[in-house]
Amino acid sequence: MHTVVIGGGVIGLTTAYHLAREGATVTLVDARPTGLGASDVNAGWIVPAEAAPVPGPGVVLTSLKWMLRPDSPLYIRPSLNPSFLSFMFGMWRASNAKAQRAGFAGHLALAEHTVEVFDEYRADGMDFEMHNEGLLMAFTRKENLDHHLTHLDLVKRYGLEPTVLVGDDVRTHEPLLSDAVEGGLFFPKERHVDPGALARALHDRLVGLGVDIVENAPVESVEIRNGRVRAIRSGSRTFIGDRFLLAAGAWTGPLSKLFGASLPVRPGKGYSVDVEPFALRSATNLSDAKVAVTPLSRNLRLAGTMEFGGLDEDINQVRVDAILRAPTTYFRGWEPPRTPVRPQAGMRPMTPDGLPVMGRLGGLSNAYVSTGHGMLGVTLAPGSAAAMTDLILRDRQSPLLAPFAPARFSGGRLAHAS
Ligand SMILES: Cc1cc2nc3c(=O)[nH]c(=O)nc-3n(C[C@H](O)[C@H](O)[C@H](O)COP(=O)(O)OP(=O)(O)OC[C@H]3O[C@@H](n4cnc5c(N)ncnc54)[C@H](O)[C@@H]3O)c2cc1C
Repeated sequence: MHTVVIGGGVIGLTTAYHLAREGATVTLVDARPTGLGASDVNAGWIVPAEAAPVPGPGVVLTSLKWMLRPDSPLYIRPSLNPSFLSFMFGMWRASNAKAQRAGFAGHLALAEHTVEVFDEYRADGMDFEMHNEGLLMAFTRKENLDHHLTHLDLVKRYGLEPTVLVGDDVRTHEPLLSDAVEGGLFFPKERHVDPGALARALHDRLVGLGVDIVENAPVESVEIRNGRVRAIRSGSRTFIGDRFLLAAGAWTGPLSKLFGASLPVRPGKGYSVDVEPFALRSATNLSDAKVAVTPLSRNLRLAGTMEFGGLDEDINQVRVDAILRAPTTYFRGWEPPRTPVRPQAGMRPMTPDGLPVMGRLGGLSNAYVSTGHGMLGVTLAPGSAAAMTDLILRDRQSPLLAPFAPARFSGGRLAHAS
């Protein structure tokens, strides 16, 4: 069984790894070197407990308000493009408590064994920085903390044991927090990794397993015969296989059309900046400012912003500056960097309902898709890779994939891509 994987981000790399360790022959094709973009610049959090889908009650109203502020953490670039409008309509429809809770439950189930699988990766020789000190959500507004209590029963069902910290309890837990912080939620089982190191370790292990990794080869066309993909092409190169997996992140929207489908995957751009280390006890979510703070051995990573706009990795300095300012409110003794920082951008693959899109692709008997992991690609990668490997190699449809079926976008129920 020869599987060709299109896309070498965290989703393509982990799926290629699960396929190869089960004995499949794998070719992985990427438009550039593997592990760049979102898979490199992300905050590295493995956070099932924070896996609520983006669309939820009040999200549309908040987004509209934030559209007026150039430094807001969420921005939707207005457009009259019909596919954009229908994506936003789909998002509006999904922005309710029932859909968000169902999506959260689907994410939690998919991520149930994620931490153990990351341990397995390391046991199999992958060398990447991983921390297990948990994750703190810090709130300067009590109502934002209260809002997060709604789903704690779900989280507890998966043994994630949150601690609610009110008032000074939060400072006892993390002495570097300022008096502006009114409370927090601590999840002891969450982890974080150095995402660039994870991608490099996956790449190296794939090479060790004999996977053929072809870089700088953007897939441009797909040859379909009798309801099957026969080959994909990049320039003069042709890749023939038995199975084809499309895992091209934010680029999947346009690429899905080559497979006769039209998936509504759009980019949700975010930024990260690495600054001097800061001695936090754990990864910390500056929850009201929507900035992720990740302590790594060589630096502190700040990440944030969700911009719905074009398929590009251009940097908006105004929003980067807002990310850099956010810790001033939350931490005592925080000093903004004195030397220039190098912001990086990455595009999260977003869907209208905020859920991944995983399963068979385009009515073809040997094509599959795994993308749309939004803000959770690292968190959901191991579960997604295992379930997709089951489907690709054994034709076994895991019940975990049910909420994420591509078919939910056919029939116009939710928006289609440009
Ligand atoms: C600022 C930021 C912070 C984040 N923080 C977290 C976090 O803390 N935890 C978490 O779980 N998630 C986080 N995420 C989300 C996570 O990074 C993404 O969900 C994840 O990277 C998506 O992985 P992917 O493999 O689907 O896509 P990508 O990483 O974008 O990979 C897609 C790959 O497809 C390739 N490709 C594109 N077009 C073609 C083509 N034509 N032919 C061949 N290859 C092609 C690209 O070159 C790329 O390598 C964050 C994202 C951002 C931007």
